[in-house]
Amino acid sequence: MHHDAPQAIVDHRRGGVLEITWPDGRVQRLRHGLLRARCRCAACERQRRQGLGDAPADASVRLTHLAPVGAQGLNLQFSDGHDRGIYPWAYLRQLGGL
Ligand SMILES: [Zn+2]
Repeated sequence: MHHDAPQAIVDHRRGGVLEITWPDGRVQRLRHGLLRARCRCAACERQRRQGLGDAPADASVRLTHLAPVGAQGLNLQFSDGHDRGIYPWAYLRQLGGL
């Protein structure tokens, strides 16, 4: 396991919150809508390069699937069809949260 990898990841789907426990003990709670707004798929990155910024954080969007990407991070898939964003551990950590 990569040394930066979380100790635990719990998806509170009904409440729309992803909870990540890091090796240093920090517990980070991230709203699904925030994660979607920070999506790093090609379409979202193109939008940022065009100066349009992040997609709005939509409170109704839900994380539908999460999958490990090697030891580096997660692929997060959302109810609005964005399913290619890769979220490295360091990126997730700096997203803040609740
Ligand atoms: Zn996207």
